[in-house]
Amino acid sequence: MPAEPAFVIVGASLAGAKAAETLREEGFDGAVVLIGTEDQYPYERPPLSKGYLLGKDARESVFVLDDGWYAEHGVDLRRGATVTSIDRADRRVSLADGESVPYDRLLITTGASPRRLSVPGADLDGVLYLRTLADSERLGAALRGGGSVVIAGGGWIGLETAAAAREYGCEVTIVEPEPGVLRGSLGPELGEVFADLHRSHGVTFRFGEGLSELTGSGGAVTGAVTSSGAELDASIAIIAVGVTPNVGLAADAGLDVDNGIVVSEALRTSDPDIFAAGDVANAFNTLLGRRIRVEHWGNALAGGPLAARSMLGQDVTYDWVPYFFSDQYDLGMEVAGLPDPGSYDEVVYRGDKDSLEFISFWLSDRAVVAGMNVNVWDVNDGIQALIRSGVTVDPDRLADPDIPLTDL
Ligand SMILES: Cc1cc2nc3c(=O)[nH]c(=O)nc-3n(C[C@H](O)[C@H](O)[C@H](O)COP(=O)(O)OP(=O)(O)OC[C@H]3O[C@@H](n4cnc5c(N)ncnc54)[C@H](O)[C@@H]3O)c2cc1C
Repeated sequence: MPAEPAFVIVGASLAGAKAAETLREEGFDGAVVLIGTEDQYPYERPPLSKGYLLGKDARESVFVLDDGWYAEHGVDLRRGATVTSIDRADRRVSLADGESVPYDRLLITTGASPRRLSVPGADLDGVLYLRTLADSERLGAALRGGGSVVIAGGGWIGLETAAAAREYGCEVTIVEPEPGVLRGSLGPELGEVFADLHRSHGVTFRFGEGLSELTGSGGAVTGAVTSSGAELDASIAIIAVGVTPNVGLAADAGLDVDNGIVVSEALRTSDPDIFAAGDVANAFNTLLGRRIRVEHWGNALAGGPLAARSMLGQDVTYDWVPYFFSDQYDLGMEVAGLPDPGSYDEVVYRGDKDSLEFISFWLSDRAVVAGMNVNVWDVNDGIQALIRSGVTVDPDRLADPDIPLTDL
């Protein structure tokens, strides 16, 4: 590389902005170009379905860095700019406006996009998705008007928007093809805690059903039909059926792609000068001994900086303990690890599950593989340490709130 190489980052959100910040913190003084499709300064998405959607968080609070930071640190932030292709032979990226930007090392942090639902009526007004700041503002304005909300999908976005809709006084029905919520991410035991929470706040579930049609009048949604033929009133339909990683650029450039951009434990793609992090990366996690692609805020927060250090030639390892959080009504929780079905053979509770103040631990052969603290705070680091240690534990001691996690 030349004395002052150019690093280009495609995707100006959490992972991309944190990578740019780390490059400067590490003393890199070559060119840093951060390119993002959105017009906004890089922002964090969790408030978009929580405090910001509810009008409780100020708009300024969602941004990753102060607006002035980029110019002050010589980071060339290109907002409203979309990269259309990567020329690996020439080491350039092309932008939609025809410009091309050279790179010595490239980081792809293009994230993920909501899966669209292609049923009749899906393009009616009032059929909404939630990924961007503008989406959140549109949804907030709609919810403020009250009415009947039908949500397709009982995942995290579906549940968090359900909680917001209930706080705005809307009637809420969640249509979910699985027999419960959050089965894939928490398993049936803990998924049920969230279903009960929502039921206690007046949310109706239609499990085992999908959304098969949206009906409307005058171009606006007025109803939804489920796969069982049930007809529901709907002045708003929220489509929350998951996301797909934005891998198009990488695939077109011939990089290895398999459920995300395939990267090593150093977040390096199949091209040694191209890296990927955040929601778009399917990265080899050395702690878990397998590749993971997660859509977690904490992963972008940790992965962006890790990729930046890797670009600088530092010896880095992606051994991050997966971490996720959610807030719904007055329940706040954090999960460490990946408690997906098949990864555990036992669930142990510390505290009373029904009181919604407890820790759940998922065990495999008596080793803690994941843990969730619900309305209990300052324990997630301890849970992460248990996961990291891999030690076997006595379930009775694990359940005993008088025994510190460090003494197991
Ligand atoms: C509403 C909402 C609530 C969430 N709440 C939580 C939560 O409570 N807890 C949690 O752990 N996680 C949460 N998440 C997930 C978390 O926000 C994501 O994991 C995180 O945003 C991933 O960051 P990223 O930088 O990898 O990608 P993204 O945030 O997806 O950003 C990628 C950026 O790249 C841009 N881009 C894509 N293609 C191009 C291109 N060709 N050229 C230029 N730019 C491009 C996109 O426009 C986008 O701005 C939530 C997500 C959403 C949408």
